[in-house]
Amino acid sequence: MAEFSIIDTYFNRKNANSVDLGVGDDSALLTPPSNQQLVICADTLVAGRHFPLDTDPHAIGWKSVAVNLSDIAAMGAKPHSILLALSLPQIDHDWLKGFSQGLYDCCDQFGVSLIGGDTTQSPHLTISVTALGWIEQGQAVTRSGAQVDDLVVVSGSVGDAAFALQHLGHPLQQRLDYPTPRCELGQLLKGLANSMIDVSDGLAQDLKHILDASEVGAILNLDQLPISDALKSLPLEQQWQYALAGGDDYELCFTINQQNYAKLLHLHPNVMTTIIGKITAQSDLQFEKDGLVHLLQFDGYQHFA
Ligand code: ADP
Ligand code: MG
Repeated sequence: MAEFSIIDTYFNRKNANSVDLGVGDDSALLTPPSNQQLVICADTLVAGRHFPLDTDPHAIGWKSVAVNLSDIAAMGAKPHSILLALSLPQIDHDWLKGFSQGLYDCCDQFGVSLIGGDTTQSPHLTISVTALGWIEQGQAVTRSGAQVDDLVVVSGSVGDAAFALQHLGHPLQQRLDYPTPRCELGQLLKGLANSMIDVSDGLAQDLKHILDASEVGAILNLDQLPISDALKSLPLEQQWQYALAGGDDYELCFTINQQNYAKLLHLHPNVMTTIIGKITAQSDLQFEKDGLVHLLQFDGYQHFA
């Protein structure tokens, strides 16, 4: 089966939203909504590096979309569409069927269209997705807007995916294989949060990006980290390690003033978020427990370490 028939069989479904021209021509065409900025990002998953080789192809498809929608959410933007660059070592129909189904399941859940891509042969299975979204001009929530005394808040729970990676088969593997991009929360935070990032390389490291970009510091309360029950039986140090340095959470970490946080909870009482600390003027990241400062060194995932 040639490249074109792979595209036609697996990657040419109906669009989920308004697309002027999708899969099938040299480029796709979109009409940007008026007064909106294009928000665009890309993320690559390499087999054996970003997921174990025997991962369910459906999960790989889901995750390759989800990690990108998470980046769009972290700007406060609404996701619109994706492009898929796929490098395959061979044509494996079972794999392609599962993968494309997982990819479309995630697209459908968040109202996103697959509008184009590229399909090539390569010795390594590599999946690169580019995601596009829209946001009102000047409304994007960046990493550089944190203000002293802002609350530091995180969505969902952290550390589950890193724990699952070391305990394959545990129910938390769902969190590793099927991360939920916080698309709705991200958009709610537009106009409310001062800064935001999605947590992909470990909470401490990712929060550090906000602190560096905003030229501020933070103090986190170790007792307030949102940690799943399954991790609670571990020694505290280990829980903190997973929660602060584990990767693949795809939660949103944001800073917001007290009033706006109250507004968020008032308007949307069901959003699952936890205050974990506060922004400080000193430019470092500190951890406290029972009022005492802990000197902990947490390093998240680094690709070229
Ligand atoms: P070109 O040779 O002009 O770059 P291609 O033959 O690579 O075009 O692709 C044909 C069409 O199929 C294009 O619209 C392209 O965006 C789309 N396409 C190719 N691979 C994929 C894929 N994996 N997923 C979605 N669309 C794809
Ligand atoms: Mg062409």
